[in-house]
Amino acid sequence: MTMAEPLAAEFWQGCAQGELRYRRCEGCGATQFPPRPFCTRCGGATRWAVSRGLGTVYAVTRVERAPTPDFAALAPYDILLVDLDEGFRMMAQGAPGLGIGERVRIAFHRQGERALPRFDRHGEDA
Ligand SMILES: [Zn+2]
Repeated sequence: MTMAEPLAAEFWQGCAQGELRYRRCEGCGATQFPPRPFCTRCGGATRWAVSRGLGTVYAVTRVERAPTPDFAALAPYDILLVDLDEGFRMMAQGAPGLGIGERVRIAFHRQGERALPRFDRHGEDA
């Protein structure tokens, strides 16, 4: 995920506190993710908002080889593209066996020095 350094720090701080943070434009209301200081639609300033963490799976990719040693113990695992209910799309690890169109909810799991977002199936146990 590429974003300006101060915004990245605030994003990861949110993850550590169990919050999925994104930016919303103060002008037109468009959601900005990855977080950006200015709106890609109208150029207006953005401010932080906290997602409810619920969304729908848009795509699933199986990762057979971990990109870093931190992830080697997890492979193979699934990376999901999820459309959050607030209107932005993000990529994160997913629980095994999730499919396109399924409802998911975000959770945060400590991995190395970070709390990483991961999507779990939503609805069955809720
Ligand atoms: Zn805007």
